[in-house]
Amino acid sequence: MPATPIRFHFDIAIIGGGVAGLWLANRLANTGYSLALFESKALGSDQTVASQGMIHGGMKYTLSGTLTGASEAIAEMPRHWRACLCGEGDVDLRNTRILSDHFFMWSSETMTSRLTTFLASKLTRGRVEPVADDKRPPLLRNNHFSGSLYRLEDLVLDVPSLVTNLANNLPSRVFQVEENSTRLTAAANGEVSLITEQDGQSIEVTAQRIVLTAGKGNAALLQQLGLQQPAMQVRPLQQVMVKHHYPHRFYGHCLGAETTPRLTISSHTTSYGAPVWYLGGSLAERGVHQDATELIESAKQELADLMPWLDFSEAEWATLPVERAEPLQRHFARPDNAFATQVVGVNNLILGWPTKLTLAPNLANEILALLNKDAITPGSATNEAAELGRHLMRAPIAKTPWDIAFPPPPDSSLTDDEATDADT
Ligand SMILES: Cc1cc2nc3c(=O)[nH]c(=O)nc-3n(C[C@H](O)[C@H](O)[C@H](O)COP(=O)(O)OP(=O)(O)OC[C@H]3O[C@@H](n4cnc5c(N)ncnc54)[C@H](O)[C@@H]3O)c2cc1C
Repeated sequence: MPATPIRFHFDIAIIGGGVAGLWLANRLANTGYSLALFESKALGSDQTVASQGMIHGGMKYTLSGTLTGASEAIAEMPRHWRACLCGEGDVDLRNTRILSDHFFMWSSETMTSRLTTFLASKLTRGRVEPVADDKRPPLLRNNHFSGSLYRLEDLVLDVPSLVTNLANNLPSRVFQVEENSTRLTAAANGEVSLITEQDGQSIEVTAQRIVLTAGKGNAALLQQLGLQQPAMQVRPLQQVMVKHHYPHRFYGHCLGAETTPRLTISSHTTSYGAPVWYLGGSLAERGVHQDATELIESAKQELADLMPWLDFSEAEWATLPVERAEPLQRHFARPDNAFATQVVGVNNLILGWPTKLTLAPNLANEILALLNKDAITPGSATNEAAELGRHLMRAPIAKTPWDIAFPPPPDSSLTDDEATDADT
């Protein structure tokens, strides 16, 4: 690297532009901190645009009986997001598309009594209600449907529009860096800085705090500093995507005998308006042990078992291997809260994993609390970000998995509006 790097200093530098980094950057910018966010691929890569977009109050986790006191934080989240979507919260999400203001939980006939018993205790909280037969969504209005159906008052968001909204709230502060020519380094006094090389020019970024929100990239960033803690766990999944001709948008969990939903369905649209169902739940957890062809066969079988009245013979199928990145838990358990900590061994490094899209606001609150604890307050306003923008490009928005899996056919003519007409 050249001997004299150009130096930039911010209150906060954020590394990783998924929902965690982008939400945090919005909170910090609204509070007056000077900041820059650095992304090595595209904003929302890895987990965020691969998520199903469900902003939930933790209901599905109570199925396993493992929801703890700490997870009361998640119960608050749908209300928090709703305020932001109306422009009345701590982050302005008025340009984020809501795909659905509810999702369903249903069970096959044999599991009905378990679901009914479980949900009975929740009905008084007003977030779940049974759905009468004549109020069922079109998709489940078939004589062969014989399970019980509940409606949860939680949200499903169009994640690409969320990422775009969060990024657009941050003009001139979101930068792309080349992963291979960017590294963290710690000075003898324990101060960490980011060094990136762009067109032969070395750029050094220092900050009162550097925050790692790089998802599964956090572990490699720590390794650059010779650090192993906090340790990370990754939970692999293999999701299934099916591009079909049904207009029905559907969002829901089907309960089986396991503690995770047997099947989770969310509905999305390709950029050229084709409907896609995105299938997760136990299907995707078991799917990591299958190759794509086997998993697609399993998915076809699941849909044939649960909705035998639908015909997917003309559908196109694809799978997405993806990993959830989380702090290491005892017995590899699922964390039910956001995780943020000051990294031990250096002075100015914070690391966070939201563990769920839903918990991004919670993670930002925890990081702001760490800043307050150390009296890291907004410094004087600078034009450093605008100056840095003369050297680094703005990071683009990641493509969705379904746009990558199903590129537009040469004669695609469906518009977004045609595809969004249908209701659940
Ligand atoms: C299939 C699936 C479905 C899900 N569905 C839901 C759901 O419905 N509801 C819910 O609440 N949660 C859901 N989740 C969980 C949720 O998606 C994640 O918890 C959340 O998106 C994590 O966000 P993040 O910003 O921490 O990480 P990521 O989204 O993984 O973002 C990390 C970012 O950091 C960047 N990066 C990595 N390394 C570097 C580096 N060295 N330098 C710079 N940038 C770097 C990456 O390119 C990426 O853009 C789901 C997860 C998966 C995998």
